[in-house]
Amino acid sequence: MEKILIVDDSLLQAAQLKAILDDEYEVTIVQTAEEGLCSASRRGYSLILLDVVMPGMDGFTLLKKLQEEMVTQSVPVILITSLSDVENEQKGFILGAVDYITKPFKPLIVKARVNTHIKLYQYRRLAEEQSMVDQLTGIANRRRYEQYSIVKWNEARRLQIPFTICMFDIDHFKMYNDTFGHPAGDKTIAAVAKVAASHLQRRTDFFARYGGEEFIALLMGDSAKNAFGQMKKIRQGVEELQIPHRTQESEWVTISIGGVTVIPQAESDYISYLGIADTMLYDAKSHGRNRSVWMNEAMTQLWEK
Ligand SMILES: [Mg+2]
Repeated sequence: MEKILIVDDSLLQAAQLKAILDDEYEVTIVQTAEEGLCSASRRGYSLILLDVVMPGMDGFTLLKKLQEEMVTQSVPVILITSLSDVENEQKGFILGAVDYITKPFKPLIVKARVNTHIKLYQYRRLAEEQSMVDQLTGIANRRRYEQYSIVKWNEARRLQIPFTICMFDIDHFKMYNDTFGHPAGDKTIAAVAKVAASHLQRRTDFFARYGGEEFIALLMGDSAKNAFGQMKKIRQGVEELQIPHRTQESEWVTISIGGVTVIPQAESDYISYLGIADTMLYDAKSHGRNRSVWMNEAMTQLWEK
């Protein structure tokens, strides 16, 4: 059930609205703008019904504050007004309200407007989620990765915990496509993603398709030894799929992995560590592929095989 917040100093008026919407939505009432701000930023509402005239902070001021907060700015706000003068309506729209309803309430109109805006909000949420997912594999896409990586890097730096950047790709993938065709190539990319995703299930694990046959994993809080061990399992898992390939090194599809684990310092920047992971991947490639190479916290290389 979608959640609606009513912010209105008149309990009678709020109760009337709640009665109209109660059968379809989970409705919460607060009586001051301050409580409204607090509740809106803590709970995931799909719509806010906001009274304009309230003692203390009024509806317009609260609307402005909701628009400034990252967590609340996308939640639609419908203003409740008895002032059916054009000026107030205009002001509301300029400040970012999506609609308004006037007192006394007509239940059918209230329902229709609320339903419309909740539906629009649901579509937008879905579109946002989909724009962050790679269609072929169902894992996070490059765009999601770009957002996530910087936020988490900064978090690890603040908390002074180890951060792992790991890049891997499918060995001789161009040759694979040339031999078996692109549809088979797509299937293989999806199969590799599935194996890796099954090993990256913790809440703090992040895994994305970087592009083409390249993937990136970000781990929080693991030592180099643990991260290295975790990724080795993924490499083995892909080999064990036994997807036929014909290269000088293997008869199956394999992956090469490069990673780095570091506790980010004030002066360290993400891009240079991404570059180190990339160099480790290059080393894995140039030493025969189907292996993992790692740079640990002491800047020592760890080699598999
Ligand atoms: Mg009022």
